[in-house]
Amino acid sequence: MGVRIVRTVKELHGEIGAGSVFVPTMGALHEGHASLMRIARQEARRRGGAKCIVSVFVNPTQFTENDDLAAYPRTLEADLIVCEREGVDAVFVPGVEEVYPRGVQVRVPSLPNVATEPGLEDRCRPGHFAGVCQVVLRLFEMVRPAAAVFGEKDWQQLQVVRAMVKQEGLGIEIVPGPTVRDADGLALSSRNVRLGLDERRAALVLNRALVRAGRTADPAIAEGSMRDELASSAVEVEYAVIRDAETLGPVEGSRTCRALVAVRVGKVRLIDNARWPMNRMG
Ligand code: AMP
Repeated sequence: MGVRIVRTVKELHGEIGAGSVFVPTMGALHEGHASLMRIARQEARRRGGAKCIVSVFVNPTQFTENDDLAAYPRTLEADLIVCEREGVDAVFVPGVEEVYPRGVQVRVPSLPNVATEPGLEDRCRPGHFAGVCQVVLRLFEMVRPAAAVFGEKDWQQLQVVRAMVKQEGLGIEIVPGPTVRDADGLALSSRNVRLGLDERRAALVLNRALVRAGRTADPAIAEGSMRDELASSAVEVEYAVIRDAETLGPVEGSRTCRALVAVRVGKVRLIDNARWPMNRMG
């Protein structure tokens, strides 16, 4: 039989209608994505049997100069097997023209402040969140979900999407999914397949840095210990900071905080984050 594949908005609406629970992805699916699908199915049941939709679309507008769009892994056959195994109702695989009928230019509403907090993703990947907001808004417009599931692995993205939904008054519930890791602590990422053996070993320093930071309740000391830990490995540090978990601004009387790191290991950019301070991984 195989899972239902839908390529156009028209087909999608004929098939599903509004009010679904939606998991947007760029494909190259792994266990992290599968966990979001399980959360989506649970959410769909909670909503009295709503449909569960996964999209697979490698969005050209969120890749910046430093990223390599062509090198992004594409594994649709295997992705469909994951979606079928997880029991989703349909996989939306639109072409670029379906998503951007007016051409591939970045057009976005005003970006929420959390997207441009200094020293985070915006510094390293200028324009990235404009592309993310553009595609998420467009996918929401096409899929018309009641709820959508996003991974905590991309913590700033999760906050940007939440802020955008609020700002635009979309009324879509954003459901977070915890980060899924390999047994050795490396957060699963579609980019991990591009790591060589030594690079993969070096990448374990991200998790070690977060764990070390989590053991102290002083933000300056925590940032210092992350930098020390990262310096012990062959990675190029982009940022290693403690921020307000929601605004991603500086920690000043914050209710909840987050430790966030971004590094380059060879040609591969990796990010990770954790609740801070912590007793266990969050
Ligand atoms: P991507 O296909 O990488 O754009 O990711 C699609 C969704 O999967 C996003 O909401 C990500 O945050 C989420 N995701 C990616 N990696 C993981 C992971 N290791 N654990 C949980 N969610 C993840």
